[in-house]
Amino acid sequence: MLGLRRYKRTQIDIWQGDITQFSVDLMVNAANFELAGGLGVDGAIHAAGGPEILAECKKIGNCPTGSCVVTTAGRLPAKNVIHAVGPVWVDGNNKEAELLKTCYENIFVTAKNLGGRHLSIPAISTGAYRFPQGLAAEIAMTTAKKFIDHEYQSAPQRITFVAIDGAAYDVLQKHLFASFADEIDHFEQ
Ligand code: ADP
Repeated sequence: MLGLRRYKRTQIDIWQGDITQFSVDLMVNAANFELAGGLGVDGAIHAAGGPEILAECKKIGNCPTGSCVVTTAGRLPAKNVIHAVGPVWVDGNNKEAELLKTCYENIFVTAKNLGGRHLSIPAISTGAYRFPQGLAAEIAMTTAKKFIDHEYQSAPQRITFVAIDGAAYDVLQKHLFASFADEIDHFEQ
């Protein structure tokens, strides 16, 4: 089953696989405060993109939790990388949900300002940062919807949420369909 919705002027879909293999305008990285590269998505993006991305990150310095910075994309199939820093999940009482929401808001605003037509986003914070997948997916979808509601004329034409495996795909799909349930005008099965 495809995970796919169209809302106002934006297509929202889910793609399963390694984010570095998926061609877009703007690829989001789940980065860390030091912009130092790491494991997970971050490691994959720097490995596939090449050293110039890390060199740009070093020049920028760091990025507070909830914010993002932009670099070129090196050898990646994208124009730019948006390095977004999600929160580390502690116990849910440390503004984790609020910070992840802010992180997604900043990603969408940055994408809009860059004029990107197609944006890919991994499941930020749900790996090494241990954020619960379901809550993270809900925040991702509801924040996307709110953004499109406010910025539908300048929002990206396509937002692709990337799941590394089938379990992550199912979680994203559930929340995609829940958040955009009433606005279906395109649904494939
Ligand atoms: P964070 O530190 O923000 O938790 P991670 O990179 O550890 O970031 O994980 C974020 C999510 O991305 C996890 O669900 C992880 O399984 C997934 N992931 C890891 N590698 C890739 C990849 N190459 N492409 C897409 N998603 C990935």
